Amino acid sequence: MPTGTILKMFFPPRCPFCRKILKGFPVEDGTYPVWAKKEAIPEVLCGRCASELPWLKDDCCPRCGRELDGKGICSCREEKYAFENCCAVSRYTGEVREALRFFKYHQKKWLAEPLGKLLSWKLTSLNWARSIEAVVPIPLTPRRLAARGYNQAALLAEIVGKETGLPVLDVLERVKETESQTGMKREERWKNLQGAFRCRERGQKYGHLLLIDDILTTGATAHEAACALRNGVAGRVSVAVFAR
Ligand SMILES: [Zn+2]
Ligand SMILES: [Zn+2]
Repeated sequence: MPTGTILKMFFPPRCPFCRKILKGFPVEDGTYPVWAKKEAIPEVLCGRCASELPWLKDDCCPRCGRELDGKGICSCREEKYAFENCCAVSRYTGEVREALRFFKYHQKKWLAEPLGKLLSWKLTSLNWARSIEAVVPIPLTPRRLAARGYNQAALLAEIVGKETGLPVLDVLERVKETESQTGMKREERWKNLQGAFRCRERGQKYGHLLLIDDILTTGATAHEAACALRNGVAGRVSVAVFAR
């Protein structure tokens, strides 16, 4: 018996959101997001979550990934983001919030695969993503990485790379610890993050790179990381996150 089969007997794949064992289910049209790979859904998440998760609508702001309010105008037009586009899969709420917390703080590294697959599927459905040449995870400082044992963004980037065939670059480093931004005012957060990242290489080798992270909230982290990449190796930078 192949190792994969034996592993599945003892550790059957579970839904990343409700953690029920995945047994396969008939997938009906209209019960899952249009960008999802229909035939692969039963291997990634359960039927209830496929239809009930807080997926972002299709008419999201292409620049910041937020759902538009119907008027087609997003408040991000006042932001000075150094990234061009943002792809996000879901809102940061309910089971998604729970899953991302487990992924980040409770050593549930297996969540990278289902979350990364969903992110890849959505990404490949977007026109602007076609020019992307490689993916770059948002890094942690060496100290934080040693404490956690892994970087959740790097695990996601690995899956996105595998699914899309794009190389994963390790060119960015985080040189400044910026934890506990809670309680900080908006401007303080942005200031606190200034100079947090550095690109290890120089020379505009890439036209369009994609930053990967688990969540995008204010956009300040992605903005700073995009600045560092553009000062280093990239002409344009976009972002892909699981939740927004
Ligand atoms: Zn589920
Ligand atoms: Zn926007």
